[in-house]
Amino acid sequence: FNHIPEGFPEIDKTLIYDTTQTIDIDNVSLDGGFLVKTLDLSIDPYMRGRMRDPAIDSYLPAYPLGQPLNGFGLGVVIRSEHPEVKVGEYVCGFNVDHAHYFVRKDLFLLEKVDNKFNLPTSAFVGVLGMPGQTAFYAWHEYSHAKPGETVFVSAGAGPVGSLVIQLAKAQGLKVIASAGSEEKVAFLKEIGTDVAFNYKTTNTLEVLKKEGGIDVYWDNVGGETLEAALEAAKLNGRFIICGMISGYNSADGVPVRNLWQIFSKSLTLSGFIVNRLEERWGKKFREEIPARIASGEIKYREQIYEGLDKVPHAILDVQRGKNTAKAVVRVSKE
Ligand code: NDP
Repeated sequence: FNHIPEGFPEIDKTLIYDTTQTIDIDNVSLDGGFLVKTLDLSIDPYMRGRMRDPAIDSYLPAYPLGQPLNGFGLGVVIRSEHPEVKVGEYVCGFNVDHAHYFVRKDLFLLEKVDNKFNLPTSAFVGVLGMPGQTAFYAWHEYSHAKPGETVFVSAGAGPVGSLVIQLAKAQGLKVIASAGSEEKVAFLKEIGTDVAFNYKTTNTLEVLKKEGGIDVYWDNVGGETLEAALEAAKLNGRFIICGMISGYNSADGVPVRNLWQIFSKSLTLSGFIVNRLEERWGKKFREEIPARIASGEIKYREQIYEGLDKVPHAILDVQRGKNTAKAVVRVSKE
C-alpha cells in the first residue's frame, strides 16, 4: 500500500508484489510464538476505509504507507513454541498479514478454529468469519423482529446480507432484498428471498411501497437506498446501520436527504462495529451456525481469487460491486 487514494483505489502495477520481505520458515525465530502459513484472506468493504490519512481517527487504524496490508484471514500453524498452539491447528481472525507466512507471539485477535464439520477453510473468513458474525450478532441484537414482519436487506447477495436474509426467513419474516446483477438476484431467490430485485434496473422505493412498506431495514449501502428505506418505513421501524458502501469511495461520504422520517415515524437506528463482538454472541454463533451450514440449511457462496497477487483486484472488485459472491483470496492450499 503506497498511496492514499481519492475516489476508487487504483492498482500500481509496478508494486503489487513485495518480494523484499522474505522469511526463512525453517529458521525464523519464534521467540515463544508460532509460525503460520496463510491460507485464506477475507477481502472486505471496510478495507477502503483504512486507506486514509492516519491523522483521521476511526475504529481501525489506517494502513501504513509502504507496508503490506493485513486483515481478517485464516492460516495453518506450521511451527510452534507456544504452549497453547499446536502444529496443524488453524488460526483465524483480524490479525493476519497479507503475506505467505507470518509469526505471532500470541493469539491476540486470533482464535483457534474448531472445524468439526470439515467445512472448507474459506468458510471461516466469510459466512463463519467476520461477515457472518456481523449478520448474526446485529440481527439478533437490534432487529427485534417478529414473524410476519417485513425486512428489506440491501447488498443482499454478499456474505453479510445473505446470512441476514436466511436468519430472517427462518424467523418467519417476509424478506425483500436487492443486489446489483441478475446472477445475484437468482441467488437471493435461491436462499428464500420473497421479493428479490436488481436495484440497477428496478426502482427501490417503488418496490418497497408496492410491498406495503418495511418494519426492518438492514442497511449495507446508505445513500439513495437508505433514503428509500426511510420513506417506506412503517411506524416504529428498526434500521440496522451495518455499512454504507455507496459512499466509501467518495470524499463527500453518503448524503441522505430525508432524515426527518426518523422522528416522524419514531424509527430506531442502530449502528455497530463487529470488532466489538461480545463473547456471548461469538459462543452462540459457533454453537449454531456451523451445524446449520453443514446440514445445508444455510447456504453461502464464495468467489475465490487464486494467489496473493490477486488481493488488489479483489479489493477493487468488492468496492465496485464486481465480486460475484464473498471475495476470498486463497494464498496457499494446505
Ligand atoms: P459484499 O461482499 O456484498 O461486497 C460489497 C457489495 O456491495 C458489492 O458486491 C456490491 O454488490 C455492493 N455495492 C458496492 N457499491 C455499491 C453501491 N454504490 N450501491 C449499492 N451497492 C453497492 O460485502 P459484505 O457482505 O462483506 O459487506 C456488506 C456491508 O456490510 C458493507 O457495507 C460493509 O462495510 C458492511 N460491514 C459492516 C460491518 C460492521 O461491523 N458494521 C462488518 C462487516 C461488513 P451489488 O452487486 O449488489 O451492488
